[in-house]
Amino acid sequence: MIKTQVLVIGSGPGGYTAAFRAADLGKEVTLIERYESLGGVCLNVGCIPSKTLLHTAEVINESKHASELGITFSKPKIDLEGVKKNKDGIVNKLTGGIHALAKARKVKVINGYAKFLSKNQVSLDGSDEVIEFEQCIISVGSRVTKFPMFPFDDERVMDSTDALLLDDVPKRMLIVGGGIIGLEMATIYDALGSEITIVELGGQIIPAADKDIVNPLFKKAKKNYANIFLNTKVTSMEPLKKGIKVLFEGKDAPESDTFDKVLVAVGRTPNGMLIDAEKAGVNINDNGFIGTNKQMKTNVDNIYAIGDVVGQPMLAHKAVHEAKVAAEVICGEKSGFDALTIPSVAYTDPEVAWTGKTEKELKEAGIEFEKGVFPWAASGRSLSIGRTEGVSKSLFDSKSGKILGMGICGTNAGDLIAEASLAIEMGCDMSDIALTIHAHPTLSETTAFAAEMAEGTITDLMPPRKRK
Ligand code: NAD
Repeated sequence: MIKTQVLVIGSGPGGYTAAFRAADLGKEVTLIERYESLGGVCLNVGCIPSKTLLHTAEVINESKHASELGITFSKPKIDLEGVKKNKDGIVNKLTGGIHALAKARKVKVINGYAKFLSKNQVSLDGSDEVIEFEQCIISVGSRVTKFPMFPFDDERVMDSTDALLLDDVPKRMLIVGGGIIGLEMATIYDALGSEITIVELGGQIIPAADKDIVNPLFKKAKKNYANIFLNTKVTSMEPLKKGIKVLFEGKDAPESDTFDKVLVAVGRTPNGMLIDAEKAGVNINDNGFIGTNKQMKTNVDNIYAIGDVVGQPMLAHKAVHEAKVAAEVICGEKSGFDALTIPSVAYTDPEVAWTGKTEKELKEAGIEFEKGVFPWAASGRSLSIGRTEGVSKSLFDSKSGKILGMGICGTNAGDLIAEASLAIEMGCDMSDIALTIHAHPTLSETTAFAAEMAEGTITDLMPPRKRK
């Protein structure tokens, strides 16, 4: 029997962070991972490979539009093997780095599938091998939600993991789900040459974000892709020799169409039900999520849970913060998860990012707010890089002037949103942002301009109104 002070199950960004933090604080730590490679979905089949391919897409797209700058490149030749090699090389570098960091910290890494036997023991791969722990952090993540209308096993129907393998570039590709994964994969396959159709159940793509913030991306996608069907449901799929026949139900969609490949990206399901957590007495809700308090502790005193398995949003950066809290609490520190905001980013072209409350959330909650909307067409830097379609929107409390949220669509929105997240955490008001000197000419100025639009102090545009 293996004995350990702290057992961490799952080595995604949440799991390895928890293991490393607990080790740094003096605990003897064991990390169990079912796959040989550490890093979980994010490093192996999620954030990192997709962002690598999105960079490839960006280079292809830039070369196509370079003629507007007076430079003409010949049509890019795509060597799919080379594209895959670059992506795999980056994934291996990062996952290798995690292995090295585990070793340097003397974290014991065990390859296997853990299931609970009791509140102090797990078994490995259903064998007699038992690991006994004093404290445990469950970080088992989530899996792709399967599409119930397609019970067949057909490699032409892909999930995000399959799509990232980049086996080929289908001529006609359908993407079911216009959320973050669907749109990021559309960006990649469109650049590589596929003809893209997106079908989305909701009334807008990326339904969680405000419509006006998604709009510049929607407009561009509508122009580039074959079709985007909103308010549309896929009712069935049938594998035919010539492709996957898909039946639609929606005002603007055809009754059916046939595609070379289909990507299903309709969300992720937490893995809470897959680890016999009930044998440890850990409560799991009907959706498979494990409840915790602010110290990331479950209903069982020595068992903690973090990341996708504890609830939305299923984002690596949320898991990392929860991981540090769990490890620190286990090590006797006064820690708690009290983040005021968790930013969301779609790494599309243009990028979409939002933090704090969205406008629709404020309206639903009946909170009185003021907003400043800055169109990037009035930014010198946006003009100089030829990307003027962006928009920045800042949302402030009407009484206190405190920032409540921000949404950005445009080049590097994912990086720019960090300033607004810090502003929310620091309780800034609109003048704090407007009076902070942003370097000129940068895209970061657009955040200050959005605050100036709310204040009425903007001079690069006509002020929408005068504020007392
Ligand atoms: P999602 O929930 O973001 O989007 C799924 C979309 O599918 C929604 O818009 C939904 O309305 C739609 N949908 C659901 N059922 C449908 C149906 N039958 N037909 C048509 N549309 C349907 O989920 P996702 O894009 O699969 O991403 C999964 C998770 O991974 C999310 O939590 C996401 O935040 C996370 N993720 C984040 C990033 C990032 O941070 N950049 C990247 C990838 C994934």
